[in-house]
Amino acid sequence: MEENRQGEILDFPNIAAQTATRYFYIESYGCQMNFSDSEIVASILSEEGMKSTRDFQLAELILLNTCSIREKAEETVKKRLKEFAKLKKSKPDLLIGVLGCMAERLKSKFLEDEKLVDIVVGPDAYRDLPRLVNQAYDGDKGINVFLSREETYADIAPLRLESNGITAFISIMRGCDNMCSFCVVPYTRGRERSRNAFTIMAEAEDLFSKGFREVTLLGQNVDSYKWENPETGQMVNFANLLQMIAEINPLLRVRFSTSHPKDITDEVLLTMAKYNNICKYIHLPVQSGSSRILKLMNRTYDREWYLNRIASIKSIIPDCAVSSDVITGFCSETEIDHLDTLSIMEWSDYSMSYMFYYSERPGTPAAKKLSDDVSLEVKKKRLSEIIRLQNQISYRHNQRDIGQVFEVLIEGDSKRSDQMFKGRNSQNKMIIFPKKPGLKSGDYVLVKVVSASSATLNGEIV
Ligand code: SF4
Repeated sequence: MEENRQGEILDFPNIAAQTATRYFYIESYGCQMNFSDSEIVASILSEEGMKSTRDFQLAELILLNTCSIREKAEETVKKRLKEFAKLKKSKPDLLIGVLGCMAERLKSKFLEDEKLVDIVVGPDAYRDLPRLVNQAYDGDKGINVFLSREETYADIAPLRLESNGITAFISIMRGCDNMCSFCVVPYTRGRERSRNAFTIMAEAEDLFSKGFREVTLLGQNVDSYKWENPETGQMVNFANLLQMIAEINPLLRVRFSTSHPKDITDEVLLTMAKYNNICKYIHLPVQSGSSRILKLMNRTYDREWYLNRIASIKSIIPDCAVSSDVITGFCSETEIDHLDTLSIMEWSDYSMSYMFYYSERPGTPAAKKLSDDVSLEVKKKRLSEIIRLQNQISYRHNQRDIGQVFEVLIEGDSKRSDQMFKGRNSQNKMIIFPKKPGLKSGDYVLVKVVSASSATLNGEIV
């Protein structure tokens, strides 16, 4: 979950709907999957003649695409809803809709508790949004939280965020079958379904022809991607799909997220090593370094298995960066378990990690069967220790890059100065460097790293 994207407003060049008279406003929270879904929602509404706006005061329909992974994420959305309630008082025709994981988790409770909400739509029911909107305009509140076994939105061309035009996300699968004991995702996003490989190819080809130079293949668990070609009966697995996308054009970079340690295969690693344009970066969430805690989390691998996967990555793709998610203070976690987490982080040499303390989510197996017995004080103390360690590891990681030359895809101007470009290397590290005439976003350049902090690399074009 990228903290700096939370609450982002999506606005799109909306050619199809230039004659629109109705405006919608959409704010997104949670993981990349949710941001990608908001692009699908925008496409569906634009087909209905609606136009997006960045100004919620202009909108007739306000949508919040929500996340349930932590209590804090849900509280943020509830606060936001209160702010929109004030607007609704002065604008009674305004419709407010809640989409995504929180909609799925709370279902009709939303309509009962949050009186200002008119529409509640779960992640598999966005095609029904136009009907629910029209029904709500006629005064009937609407809900559709049906979870599908088939829906992949394969035939919907998402409307892309207009700001960058270089990097895009492509959903390749939906849902999750893993049942980690702390996680709401299997309940909010349903069973795993893989999307037709040819529609993924077509989407990537279309993006490339429009000037995009990097696609990130998205799924809750990309390594279990599996699609059977109905005409030939041939199975396409994730390694095959990566190869198909990589072969579209060497100038199209391919990334993916998220991998599960139990599923990532050597076949995937060998495919990554074979193609220059498959980025040398894997997000491989460990969650905990203790085998006992991993068992309670139902992660279905133990410490040794995880260490072995990291060893394979290091031997097959020596220049690969690995990042992680870490939860601290899970049920019954002791100081020794915590030390195991610190040591696995050190050994794995993560370039970065998303780190949180455990927050019990209602309805999950952990909430039903385990006691959330680590005090908040200890959770916070352990979290600050893992953050401190990760900062040191990231700093060391980045210091090693000084003097090295990387191929960087220019993504645009740096935030701090329009005299500087920003772009990422294959290892997903952001590099800031002075501009040179003739170069533009979407170009590849060779950049030598000259200095580094724990968060960013600074370089110069060579
Ligand atoms: S899938 Fe998980 S992280 Fe993504 S929005 Fe839903 S609860 Fe949040």
